[in-house]
Amino acid sequence: MNRTMESLIRRAAEDIMERGTAAALTGSGMSAESGIPTFRDKGGFWEKYDPNLYAHIGTFFTDPGKPWQMVKEFDSIARAQPNPGHHALAELERMGYLKGVITQNVDNLHQQAGSSNVIEFHGNMRRAVCLNCRRYYPMEEISLEVLPPRCECRGVLKPDAVFFGEPIPAIALRQAQEASQQCRLMLVIGTSAVIYPAASLPRIAKESGAMVVEINPETTPLTDHTSDYIIIGKAGEILPKIVSEIRTLSRAGKEIPRSR
Ligand code: NAD
Repeated sequence: MNRTMESLIRRAAEDIMERGTAAALTGSGMSAESGIPTFRDKGGFWEKYDPNLYAHIGTFFTDPGKPWQMVKEFDSIARAQPNPGHHALAELERMGYLKGVITQNVDNLHQQAGSSNVIEFHGNMRRAVCLNCRRYYPMEEISLEVLPPRCECRGVLKPDAVFFGEPIPAIALRQAQEASQQCRLMLVIGTSAVIYPAASLPRIAKESGAMVVEINPETTPLTDHTSDYIIIGKAGEILPKIVSEIRTLSRAGKEIPRSR
């Protein structure tokens, strides 16, 4: 670990402790170290399945077998396990610093890692919903041998994720906006911050007085205008170090304001 990174990790630990109420906004980079490809990853999954076609709601209504073909393959990827970054965020919540996670991911890994307050901004690919009777099914209970899978009522099932062209679920949108207004520090982790309205949440946090701290191997459109600082690196490496630094600081007797 170089000196700059070391001092930024220390700074983030102190800021989280001092500010007391943090929220995290996560994107697909959060799960990259669990083996799930991000949209930015060249080659492989997203070149085979162009998200603008396979993950677009229009395609779902004209040819639902097509998105399900993608889901079938994504499903094997999504059997991935949480990485040390997911576990670190769950630990920050248990320690009382993190109020909740707003995730753009649909992979359920925050919940699997033990985070209890997760706002699913883009839904969850581990569930499907019947477009006719609105019954929900856990993905593992659905046979993908014949596509598209159907409900007992014969309605077409749709993965309960937000497809391109679909609105954000109203409750998730309201909860995410409230969490962004109420937090005093927002960790923005593994998102390229180009997909709206998720990308507007850090700005809402900033305008409401929060500090914005990015964790990403690359800069984003937020870096120069919205973020207070960025820690350049991988979520699965940086987040456990921040948690460990908070432990060290609290053992050294630094006062810890708990989340309000
Ligand atoms: P994106 O693909 O646009 O950008 C990924 C970002 O993650 C980039 O900024 C990249 O630099 C960063 N990154 C890569 N590896 C990282 C690491 N190890 N640690 C931290 N950051 C890392 O992703 P996005 O902004 O989340 O937008 C894509 C959309 O695609 C989201 O809406 C999301 O729902 C969906 N998606 C979800 C998953 C998933 O559920 N795991 C996977 C792919 C896409």
